[in-house]
Amino acid sequence: MNVADSRNLADDLDRLGCIRVSKAEDADIIVLNSCVVRQNAENRVASKLGALRGIKGIRPDALIALMGCMVGPEVYGLHERFPHVDMFISPQQFAPLLNVVRKRISSAIGFEYNASPVAPTAFVPIIHGCDNFCSYCVVPYRRGREVSRPVDEIVNEVRLLTARGAREVTLLGQNVDSYGHDLAGSPDLADLLRVINGLDGLVRIRFLTSHPKDMSDGLIEAVASLDKVCEHISLPFQAGDDDILEAMHRGYTNEQYRDLVYRIRDVVPDAAISTDLIVGFPGETDTQFQRSYSILEDLRFDMVHVAAYSPRPETYASQHLADDVPPDVKKARLDMVEELQERIVAEINSKLLGTAVEVLVEGTKKGRWYGRTRTDKLVFFDDERDMTGRLVDIEVKKAGAWSLQGSPV
Ligand code: SAM
Ligand code: SF4
Repeated sequence: MNVADSRNLADDLDRLGCIRVSKAEDADIIVLNSCVVRQNAENRVASKLGALRGIKGIRPDALIALMGCMVGPEVYGLHERFPHVDMFISPQQFAPLLNVVRKRISSAIGFEYNASPVAPTAFVPIIHGCDNFCSYCVVPYRRGREVSRPVDEIVNEVRLLTARGAREVTLLGQNVDSYGHDLAGSPDLADLLRVINGLDGLVRIRFLTSHPKDMSDGLIEAVASLDKVCEHISLPFQAGDDDILEAMHRGYTNEQYRDLVYRIRDVVPDAAISTDLIVGFPGETDTQFQRSYSILEDLRFDMVHVAAYSPRPETYASQHLADDVPPDVKKARLDMVEELQERIVAEINSKLLGTAVEVLVEGTKKGRWYGRTRTDKLVFFDDERDMTGRLVDIEVKKAGAWSLQGSPV
């Protein structure tokens, strides 16, 4: 979501005629996008903001703005904490910043519409906010309640993006599976996917994140039957123990989660499934952690995002549950998950050796082309031609846990 917000704002600034520079020291407008989902992230934002203070000393005209979840719907005490920051932008509320930039540009050089090309892959938020209030999570307090964007508005945005060069869109939301419940006629995500699947120019569609309690059979069928919808599902389980799941307010059990994954794999046999989990939630014992570990061993995910529990302000868990798992125990559990997962992904990926995978080329890194498979695996290859935005079949010659390497078939 933050990458999508950054890109959207950057696109708006592009359209106003702003030019990107590579160093903050050279910029007239510096916007720091912030995540506060864990304390570590918040600390990093504070230290980056501190580092920007020097720029304001040398160039007082430089406009420094902070956006994202650290700001939230209201600005509490941030002006006092960071007096060198000119603007605080609540999530996705770009208008005040764009107005200031517009005024500065018109007084300097005037307007210049710059319909710059977009990347082959684009993000499109389809539902803002979250209604779930998982007990550990700050998102509903910072991004508000669920608001779905109308189907027409999303379709128009996807059309515009494809006209400017996008070939893949990722439909975004904290819980995309509850898309549409607040719209007239209650269209759901499967309905939206069917409409977008029919748009010319687009070759791939992804969506994330799904919530296990809301994923419908209709959505799984849509993934199986719609040719542009990639076989890739992001389905966080967060914990394997039923008591912890209940304390997290997740709304499903270990068994229900496992059944859902079996159902997905029955209907979409090649589906890559990624997941998130938290270790060291308040009160999590070794035995309870072991239940999360067993899910990883049994279900063998393609990608796992694991985080140590971090108490976040305003959340139920931070107010009612003691953060009682010691840091070294959290760290040991993190390491165990990462070690296990690296082995599992290396095994999954090694099965692709010698096969051909379809890659949508996104660009170059260190002189090599890279892109992703439909199952979201990163692939590197060499080619003399300009491959940007093309779909190519790549024969996999090397397979590691983090990426694949190969050559065009
Ligand atoms: N909406 C998605 C879901 O329901 O899983 C994910 C949203 S959350 C912003 C991204 C991930 O951050 C979560 O899946 C969770 O694993 C992690 N996370 C959220 N709050 C956390 C906390 N207080 N401590 C550690 N990890 C946290
Ligand atoms: Fe946070 Fe839960 Fe909403 Fe995901 S579903 S954003 S974890 S409250």
